[in-house]
Amino acid sequence: MIVLLNPGAPPATAKIIESWLIKAGATPRRAHGAGRLAIELATGHAPLSAELVARLSTMDGVEAVLDAEDPIPRVRAATGPVLIATPRGPLAVGPGAPLALAFGPCSIALDPKAEDDLHQTAEAAARAGARLLRGGAFKPRSSPYAFQGSGQEGLRLLRRIADAHQLAVVSEAMSESALNIVAEFAELVQLGARSMASTPLLKAAARCGRPLLLKRGFGATVDEWLLAAEYLLDGGAPGVILCERGIRTFEPATRATLDLGGLALARLRTGLPILADPSHAAGTRPLVAPLALAAVAAGADGLIVECHPDAARARSDGPQALALDELSPLAEAARAVAHAAGRRVEVSSKVTCPNKIQSSPRSSASPR
Ligand code: PEP
Ligand code: MN
Repeated sequence: MIVLLNPGAPPATAKIIESWLIKAGATPRRAHGAGRLAIELATGHAPLSAELVARLSTMDGVEAVLDAEDPIPRVRAATGPVLIATPRGPLAVGPGAPLALAFGPCSIALDPKAEDDLHQTAEAAARAGARLLRGGAFKPRSSPYAFQGSGQEGLRLLRRIADAHQLAVVSEAMSESALNIVAEFAELVQLGARSMASTPLLKAAARCGRPLLLKRGFGATVDEWLLAAEYLLDGGAPGVILCERGIRTFEPATRATLDLGGLALARLRTGLPILADPSHAAGTRPLVAPLALAAVAAGADGLIVECHPDAARARSDGPQALALDELSPLAEAARAVAHAAGRRVEVSSKVTCPNKIQSSPRSSASPR
């Protein structure tokens, strides 16, 4: 067991905890790290009474009481939805909240038609009930010659159009230097599949002040994915949303294999919200809706889906972009599946955000 103290906890708190633990027959040991004090108990100690654990957990100055044998205590303990600040008020994403939908293009372009395309996209997304507009400004591309995104100017455009339609923005940060820029414009910062294993990026992202969308690496196990989420929670992220986007298997006919078993397993292991991205698993338009619905049936709390008014004009991932008139039917079908699977789909004003998994605007000023 580990009793983790708040960074500013007075020294007397540690002394009191140690005395309680010694009285209970355990041998406490101090460990310092990441600016905090932790009191560890050697493994094999006699079980502590439930009352003592409860007293420790609720004590002033104690951040958490963790099971030292459990590599993902925070991920396992997470409950309740993540709140994302949006222009239309807080959006709850996760178990117990309505299905969350994020629609938008793969990448934001700046060509003459880009603004009109994005307006049409945002309008269709909002009409379908999406509260989030997706779009990559910093793009992770396999080829150095492929479109790399339009950077800060792309984010500025995305923000402006999202505001016009009262949508929140989700966009990817691939580097520590991009985190602050993306966090300035997006209410939800995406960490992409290629970045999931970058622990320096995870640590920095946890401090960017925004909730994070953590995509599963296409070569990562469920355990590795959840450990990456543990980094984010341990680093103080104000909310973590997992995203299953397909893994690499021996099957080349689809771009990736949407791991519904992994999604359902993650659902059993954690109360963190889980979105599914059927677009990058499908790689091709006709597979997107079936995968999306299957993911909702398997327990996804929402969907992030690529779309474009004219896929031929998309600067990346055009073949998997849904047409705009496909969004409302998909959203409706997804809600019906969620309903059939016994999940609540009504908007509730009584969403609670326990466990500190709560987002707040990054600053009082709205992002620009
Ligand atoms: C994306 O969502 O834009 C993206 C690049 O996805 P992934 O990181 O899952 O490949
Ligand atoms: Mn894409």
